[in-house]
Amino acid sequence: MLLDTQYLFAETWWFARTLARDFALNLQVIEPNVEPDDLWQRDVEACCHARKVEPLQRALAGRTAWVTGLRRVDSPSRAATPVVGHDLLRDIVKINPLAAWTDADMAAYVEREGLPEHPLASRGYPSIGCWPCTRPVEAGADPRSGRWAGSAKTECGLHR
Ligand code: SF4
Repeated sequence: MLLDTQYLFAETWWFARTLARDFALNLQVIEPNVEPDDLWQRDVEACCHARKVEPLQRALAGRTAWVTGLRRVDSPSRAATPVVGHDLLRDIVKINPLAAWTDADMAAYVEREGLPEHPLASRGYPSIGCWPCTRPVEAGADPRSGRWAGSAKTECGLHR
């Protein structure tokens, strides 16, 4: 599932479509119920809610579980991520199969399976969201420090 916030990098679209083609994925694109606007310049919480939280809520309606790519090493706020837990926000099961994976685990898996990497990863983007809210980071910096850089916001609200 891909949340189309209307502000994804062109490279993200290219990467998603390439993966879907090469691995015969059933890529489902979820769109927001709003038109493009400048809300991200004034209220990132409201923008993330309209373009991420509400669309995912809609997509998961009637489901009993969902699977994420969360890892404990992503950020301090994700350090206690369980492999299987209860999604309090949606009252369904939340499965995080990569929760315990380290960066080394991830790199080894990508190399062993010959998986491609997002084209922005080698250009200083270890964590990639919407283009207005994602900046490249220096090598060795917190991988998520480029997300909403300069603000106190660290999560979009999908994971609570
Ligand atoms: S990351 Fe930025 S542009 Fe994307 S939904 Fe959130 S506030 Fe809007």
